[in-house]
Amino acid sequence: MAKNILEVQNLVTRFKTEQGLMKALDGVSFHVEEGELVGLVGESGCGKSVMSQSIMRLYDEKTQARYEGKVLFNGRDLLTLDEKEMQRVRGQEITMVFQDALSALDPVFPVGSQIAEALRIHQGLKGKEAREQAEEMLRLVGIPSPGERMRSYPHELSGGMRQRVMIAIALCCHPKLLIADEPTTALDVTIQAQIMELIVRLNKQLNMGVLLITHDLAVIAETCTRVAVMYLGQIVEEADVKTLFRRPAHPYTRGLLRSIPRLDGDKRERLFVIGGTVPLLSQIPQGCRFAPRCPYACEDCGRREPELLPVPGGEKDHLARCHKAADGQGVS
Ligand code: SF4
Repeated sequence: MAKNILEVQNLVTRFKTEQGLMKALDGVSFHVEEGELVGLVGESGCGKSVMSQSIMRLYDEKTQARYEGKVLFNGRDLLTLDEKEMQRVRGQEITMVFQDALSALDPVFPVGSQIAEALRIHQGLKGKEAREQAEEMLRLVGIPSPGERMRSYPHELSGGMRQRVMIAIALCCHPKLLIADEPTTALDVTIQAQIMELIVRLNKQLNMGVLLITHDLAVIAETCTRVAVMYLGQIVEEADVKTLFRRPAHPYTRGLLRSIPRLDGDKRERLFVIGGTVPLLSQIPQGCRFAPRCPYACEDCGRREPELLPVPGGEKDHLARCHKAADGQGVS
């Protein structure tokens, strides 16, 4: 059995604001196995990026945020490490790829020297050795003529090439976990497909766990084995990809799936839209957080907060946070 490389247990992230502490993540639990590709999906504002940045403890704990719960990485709780130990984890054992490669890369240095710098800092490589390894990384991520490209500045590369460079930097220290936060959002469709193919290939080739954060369910369907759906700082459904797409149990997941355009659908039919928007953290509804937007909401939903529970009669490890899914009534 593959072991869990990442195990998030009951993670709570509170932001310090002028109105006091606001809970942006509320009791999030999930895991990623060694070599597994897990998707995390939800609309903007659901807490996906807060989750990834909380795993890496990127919010300053003195001025910005407070964490509770456990983030077990290879059995070690990252929330208990001091900043020096955490710096060794970041960029070496866990790495991240963000959506905007242009702002993540330094505009005044050639990309080759930026990869070599990561190798110097995290691997202790020097001079020629670091440069040769950097070139090898460009080759690994499929950049043609890597020797020449080493000397290119970020603005001389296309969006897809820059994202490949970001992936090369992320992978140069052989991390055990890659967090890819909307890695293809800023790219056009064909380049998106190439970058996703690259991530899947490297996931298999390097047996590296990947947490893929996206709002694009189509990308999840093609790449992941398991998926967690987030809404307003909580996981509302989790299942293997086939189950989630065939038998979604939570009304929010159903809404997300219905809002994907279908090639075989009636072209005259309007695309489904989940009514309303994700509420502000200062206005979290009582009871079920999705109730104000849920077509199946009843009085009880506004009173009692649902727990994330196994779906009765569902596949193993299919969990949903909905009263109607939990009592076997289901929604259709
Ligand atoms: Fe909708 Fe009620 Fe289920 Fe919440 S608990 S998702 S409001 S049916």
